[in-house]
Amino acid sequence: MTTARHGLRPRIVYRHGLRTARAVHGLRGGSTRSGDQPSTPAPHALEQAGCPLCDADQCTPFASAQDDLTGKPGRFSFVRCEACSLVYQNPRIPARDIAAWYDDEYIAHRKKTDYGVFTPLYNWAMDRHDRRKLALVRKYVPLSTRSDVLDLGCGSGTFLAKVATESGARVTGVDFKDLAHLPWMHSVEFRCGRAVAQTFDRGRFDLITLWHFLEHEYEPRATLAQARDWLAPHGRMIIEVPNLQSRTARWFGDRWPGLQAPQHTAIYDRKTLFALVQSAGLHVVDWLPWGAFPAYFYLFAGTAFKLLRGRGLNLARAVYPYFLGELLAAPVLLFEKRLNLAMQTIVVAKEEA
Ligand SMILES: [Zn+2]
Repeated sequence: MTTARHGLRPRIVYRHGLRTARAVHGLRGGSTRSGDQPSTPAPHALEQAGCPLCDADQCTPFASAQDDLTGKPGRFSFVRCEACSLVYQNPRIPARDIAAWYDDEYIAHRKKTDYGVFTPLYNWAMDRHDRRKLALVRKYVPLSTRSDVLDLGCGSGTFLAKVATESGARVTGVDFKDLAHLPWMHSVEFRCGRAVAQTFDRGRFDLITLWHFLEHEYEPRATLAQARDWLAPHGRMIIEVPNLQSRTARWFGDRWPGLQAPQHTAIYDRKTLFALVQSAGLHVVDWLPWGAFPAYFYLFAGTAFKLLRGRGLNLARAVYPYFLGELLAAPVLLFEKRLNLAMQTIVVAKEEA
């Protein structure tokens, strides 16, 4: 099937509407047990999207995914662009409505203290994640009290707080969810809103990080082009996203955690990620088949999603098997950086004039 953005749109939307009304009614009738028959989000809430990388409309179906993480009902379509091969969500929930899908359970927005007896272990793991980010950053950017750091999609801000503590750098975070009240955010200059809506001085930042942010972004090209303007001439931008050409993507298919429907707008492989940064006037300094985010999370979540079949993962109950599994997988995870398991990181700079 080829999806044309124009012409067919009203008819497709109307037909989905009829199906949706029935499906939602059925779920209310008590069949929520199974993720096998999800409803589709109300069609008026979906919009047709062109390719976020090249604007082409011609695409072919790639995967139909569920919200495996939270178990909310719905099925979401990913397509592959026939022109540039980017995989992106289409149709999709409009940007103005997506906030409802990032509730307090959303992992990047979770506070530090809500896992009961496992809280210390969870906090240790989250701090390890931030330490891994910092170690990765320091391979490319020397951080000091003179550094100015921006994190787009900063979530609960713990990475920036760590950067401030460890290096004394000035740190700024942007996220559409307002988490400025969290106690460690006092060291962070926080801006609530979309990245594209922000204004900063040209050439201000020595380092701009996007940790699992770009795949959520509705306007990735515009966002990167704008971030490029904010980057100092010697600055580096470090972008981590899931890698569509990774082992876990092959193993788990439409249950791959990297799809994360409906929040992920596009899923990049190495080629499309390179094309995206280059289209924004950035040049590639380095590319890594790993990231700060633990690949083990995708191993664990992918296995759980396969078993749960769309019923959602109860993170609080999963904490014990999660860490037990990590212990068992430790010998394999020693080689995480060589196995292309799940993540990719690209380091970019301003293109030389
Ligand atoms: Zn395209």
